[in-house]
Order: sequence, then structure tokens, then C-alpha cells
Amino acid sequence: MSRIGLLGGTFDPPHWGHLWLAELARVELELDKVLFLPVGNPVHKQRRVITAVPHRLHMVSLAIQDNPHFVLDTTDCNRSAPHTTVTLLPLLRQAYPNADFWLLIGGDSLRDLPTWVEPTRLIQQCRLAVLMRPGAEIDWQDLETAVPGIETAVDLLDGPTLSISATAIRRWVQNGFEPTYLLPTAVAKYIQQNHLYAG
Ligand code: ATP
Repeated sequence: MSRIGLLGGTFDPPHWGHLWLAELARVELELDKVLFLPVGNPVHKQRRVITAVPHRLHMVSLAIQDNPHFVLDTTDCNRSAPHTTVTLLPLLRQAYPNADFWLLIGGDSLRDLPTWVEPTRLIQQCRLAVLMRPGAEIDWQDLETAVPGIETAVDLLDGPTLSISATAIRRWVQNGFEPTYLLPTAVAKYIQQNHLYAG
């Protein structure tokens, strides 16, 4: 039985917060690998223009290139909308029939889980590995009321937290600065060469 972490995201751009979440989960939960699953057209983020899929795929492959346990998976961005996690899991199950799955998410995603499509059905298909994120407090009682069973479905990761977000990086670049030390150098170079987020 293999143990697989699933890290879905917009990755616009991928940054150290994502990579640290994946690595901490890999070590603590003894995962065999972590699949990075860029979303095609996220249901949560339709209010802003998302960078084209090929750019985001390229940035993720650059971000994970040094870690043999990290794998780019295009299942989500290659299917048609809507891109909900609850319908992605059965597709991944077909590809990995014998794996135990952990969905890796930040504390902000856990807090917002009640707004996801069918969160209760989702947590019947996988466990959640959560790294708290500065600024996202969890009200466990409210969460349990909204998503029954959530408390026992979560593995809280125990490690340093990072407040880096893609939003802050996009803003930083838009203001004319380079995103040095916020994400891997190869990704920073790609952003610069392709004039991403330049406003
Ligand atoms: P944006 O700022 O555009 O909303 P983001 O930085 O939150 O983007 P996403 O691609 O939306 O990045 O995140 C994918 C997953 O990674 C989410 O579950 C999110 O909570 C988690 N994540 C992102 N950054 C961090 C971080 N610094 N610490 C913990 N989890 C994180």
C-alpha cells in the first residue's frame, strides 16, 4: 500500500510555502510521493485572471525538479470544468487503486472547507494533512458542525509556518521587485524571462 500526498493549487506562482507543506507532510506522514496538481480553472478564484496553464505547469516542474519524491500531475488541468476536488479524487483513485491519499492543504483552505463542493463526501475519500498558515484561525466547533467528521479526518502537521502567499508574490513583482528568496531561483528566473505578473 503506497502513501500519496495530493497538493492541488493554482500555483500562480508555486513558492516555498507549497514546497515546505509538501516536504513536511512527506516526512511526517512517511509519504512515498507528493503529486502536485495544478488546477485548470479553479472554482474559488474566478474573480481574477489566472496565468495560462502551460506557464503554471512549467513553473511547478521547475519548482519540484530537485526533489525525487515530488511529481507533477496534470489530471486536474487536463479535464474539463468544474475542477472540484471531490470529483478529482475518483480519477486519482483509478490511477492509484491501492494508495492511501492525504490531501495537503494550508490552514486557510481548512477554514474555508465548508465552502467547497461536498466537503463531507471529500473527507470520506482521503485524509487531510494541514499546515497552519499565519492569519488563518480555525474554529473547530463551527467546522465540525459544517463538515461532520472533519476533526478525525485531519492530521495536523507540526513544523514552522510560512506566511508566503502567491498573492503577495504577484504584488511584489507587480511593484517592480524580483521575488528572490520567496520561491526557487529557477521559478524566479522563469517569471522574469516571461514577464509574468509585471502589471
Ligand atoms: P493565492 O495567494 O493566489 O491565493 P496561495 O499562495 O494560497 O495562492 P494556492 O496555489 O492557492 O497558493 O495554494 C494551494 C494550497 O497550498 C492551499 O491549500 C494553500 O492553503 C496551501 N498553501 C499555500 N501557501 C501556503 C503556506 N505558506 N503555508 C501553508 N500552506 C500553504
